[in-house]
Amino acid sequence: MKFGGTSVGRPERMHQVKDLITGSTEPTLVVLSALSGTTNALVGIGEALAAADKVLAKERIDSLHSHYLKFYLELLKSPAARTKAEEILKEHFEFLNILLKISFNEAIQRDILTQGELLSTKLFHTLLEELGVSSVLLPALDFMSIDENSEPELGKISERLKAQLSQHPNQHLFITQGYICKNHRGEVDNLKRGGSDYTASLVAAAVQASVCEIWTDIDGMHNNDPRVVDRTRPIAELSFDEAAELAYFGAKILHPASIWPAQLHNVPVRLLNTMDPAAVGTLIKADVVETGVKAIAAKDGITAINIKSSRMLLAYGFLRRIFEVFEAFKTPIDMITTSEVAVSVTIDDLSHLDQIVEELRRFGTVEVDPNQAIICVVGNQVAETKGSISAVMDSLVDIPIRMVSFGGSKHNVSILVDAKYKVQALKSLNEGVFSW
Ligand code: ASP
Ligand code: MG
Repeated sequence: MKFGGTSVGRPERMHQVKDLITGSTEPTLVVLSALSGTTNALVGIGEALAAADKVLAKERIDSLHSHYLKFYLELLKSPAARTKAEEILKEHFEFLNILLKISFNEAIQRDILTQGELLSTKLFHTLLEELGVSSVLLPALDFMSIDENSEPELGKISERLKAQLSQHPNQHLFITQGYICKNHRGEVDNLKRGGSDYTASLVAAAVQASVCEIWTDIDGMHNNDPRVVDRTRPIAELSFDEAAELAYFGAKILHPASIWPAQLHNVPVRLLNTMDPAAVGTLIKADVVETGVKAIAAKDGITAINIKSSRMLLAYGFLRRIFEVFEAFKTPIDMITTSEVAVSVTIDDLSHLDQIVEELRRFGTVEVDPNQAIICVVGNQVAETKGSISAVMDSLVDIPIRMVSFGGSKHNVSILVDAKYKVQALKSLNEGVFSW
């Protein structure tokens, strides 16, 4: 069971989480995020230190500290538990304060980011103790690891975690940190922002759990973006493939990488709402029979790059050379479309855009269109379901379409539009493809 930042972000919510985890009869491993706002605050502290602005860093550390000083007093009542919490806060805030006195580097930056999950799990464990609920706090840094490409080492994670669990044969409840891990150099690292979901899925796969529950503050994955479209509804069931497409394309509820470990070990994933535990949420599993358009999602911040070259005509190896440029700069490509003399790709990581464009110029004319959005239409067999594609295209008649990607998977059609049309596209698709 994984609980996100808002699910543990207030003392009364932590109590609710305690009720939810003790309601289960199966042995349970609980993964916690940092309290909401904490990781952002830690990023801010790191930025201030990186900029050598010690005054600002100190201000930010103090403001976070006072948040926790209030939090633990509301969370815990007994003097013993409060004393313990005071020690926990002292340890972690002393650490942050020491950083004001030493020279800053990237490893320290990652150490800072670790504090959030360490604090949330330790405070929660103290709460359980106070309430007489027996549990074991398992340090994620003892079993979660990534390799030199920042990929989680699932095999090793599984071995280590199982070894740890076997040391507590009579224990049914375990607590651990999401997001944080060790890297191949043995340093403290993390699974990137939002990575607690990923931890949950990896851990569930590692122990072959019966289910991986992701508890957030929304009642499941919605069939469209509830922030911009009026009528959306939670999707009851999704296949792993559908969920993977959706998680990547903007459905902010789930970290995109968190599908594969569960899928690999066939662990069903349930998205549930801490604020409304009775809501059915979304179940993600292997075989889902329903076909047709199931959901629409959008991803902003996309840049399209078009490479036009008459040398591509009848040439082979051309695409490989283009892709090698992106590979050299470790930049993932999302969408691709080709014509006989041109190829368009999209990226969302712009950190090496200038270098990439410069390299690509060797092959032909390069055009860059920033501020695009990918509209992703997802559904089991959507490509083969009669009428689906025409309904999608009919809904978008008034919107200029920059790229269409269709046929790569049976579950998805991706359409690239200028970001200024995103909301309009989501709204028209909502009316055009779902029956209400
Ligand atoms: N605390 C981390 C973040 O805010 C990880 C997570 O919550 O999933 O990104
Ligand atoms: Mg999250």
